Amino acid sequence: MSTAPVRVSVRREIAGADIADIAGRFGTPVYVYDADTIRRRCRDLAAWDTVRFAQKACSNLAVLALVRRAGVLVDAVSTGEIHRALAAGYAPHAAPGAAGPQDLPPAHPIVYTADIFDRDSLDAVVRHGIHVNCGSADMLEQLAARMPGASVTLRVNPGFGHGHSQKTNTGGEGSKHGIWHEDIPEVLRRAEWAGLSVSGLHMHIGSGTDLAHLAEVAGALERVAREIGRSLTTISAGGGLPVPYKPGEEHADLGGYFALWDATRKTLEADFGHRIRLEIEPGRYLTAESGFVVTEVRAVKRQGGRKYVLVDAGFNTLARPVLYGSYHPMSLCPADGHASPEPEEVAVGGPLCESGDIFTQADGGFVATRSLPAAQVGDLLVIEVAGAYGFVMASNYNSKPLPAEVLVDGGTARLVRARQTPEDLTRGETV
Ligand SMILES: *Cc1c(COP(=O)(O)O)cnc(C)c1O
Repeated sequence: MSTAPVRVSVRREIAGADIADIAGRFGTPVYVYDADTIRRRCRDLAAWDTVRFAQKACSNLAVLALVRRAGVLVDAVSTGEIHRALAAGYAPHAAPGAAGPQDLPPAHPIVYTADIFDRDSLDAVVRHGIHVNCGSADMLEQLAARMPGASVTLRVNPGFGHGHSQKTNTGGEGSKHGIWHEDIPEVLRRAEWAGLSVSGLHMHIGSGTDLAHLAEVAGALERVAREIGRSLTTISAGGGLPVPYKPGEEHADLGGYFALWDATRKTLEADFGHRIRLEIEPGRYLTAESGFVVTEVRAVKRQGGRKYVLVDAGFNTLARPVLYGSYHPMSLCPADGHASPEPEEVAVGGPLCESGDIFTQADGGFVATRSLPAAQVGDLLVIEVAGAYGFVMASNYNSKPLPAEVLVDGGTARLVRARQTPEDLTRGETV
């Protein structure tokens, strides 16, 4: 267990690349990812047979190619994410007859995980032969009609869930996700009638939860696995691994978590008499800490007793604070000639025409303040731990272009997605 690095409130570089130089070359606001941090997070999970990246957390092609080279497979929740996985070099399906090491069943490079097929995602799955993780029983007949004899994974809602926010809780009666645990016998009959075999079992109870809640899933999965029986060759613990955002928060005990799941896997292997592949499906864990939003301070003003620092990024750039009241560490990169500023209490906001456009807000939308080095117009403000559910949730609200994305590797910053242009904003529209 390691504590989160102490957040320096003045920061001049990201992974050896000069922040002022990045802002000068690529403009602001800009997302910056540190490749080494992503690789390190992939290595943390090396004990698992399969690490499957839930790309919805950060789906830039350069990031997908990076995790692919680190041996990580990928999850897709839409046609667009299938397209991204293929474009980043993932094979659509395992080579026929390919077995993994130690007689493990082959892993599917891409898995489509969703509660529905829209018409184009069903087309894409069929066209490329992509393995499906079904979150609703209706998907079984829809798939069987187009891919007779396919094997599938079932996503089961164990009847409980937990997330960092009620909006990211994906289990229990309050969640639309997965097949209800009590319906398994009926769903297995439907799968058999449709001519599909059930080779995988998956549970994902929420995002940004904690290990105590996640640990309850192993027992629930074991019970459902016994109902499915010997056709099962892969079990997935889902994602949800927490990361430290606030000062003092720690990394979770991943060794203990793996040991718990490994024991579940071994119990099932003994019962079924064959090897079982053990998967984990993190999104946030692999990329959150790698990501930074670099913004420029454009105004500093007082409203009565409160001081506001206004930057050129808003909730169009990073939505987590307005969506969930999420906390992101921040630091200042002072402009040349602006030396060692003293800390002061400020609220940080963006340019959007909406009062909720505040990065320092508590759950419920209340404006909070943060102690930051006194900022001046022209300084750069860096919003940290922004690499998961950051760019991917950015929008064109207020007709703002999507920001650029930059990857820093070996101290060198490289543009991996160009900032949108004004023409991009009106593409496809007619007067
Ligand atoms: C979102 C999601 C994940 C990843 O969740 P994190 O909290 O980012 O790890 C994993 N699996 C499924 C099915 C998801 O929807």
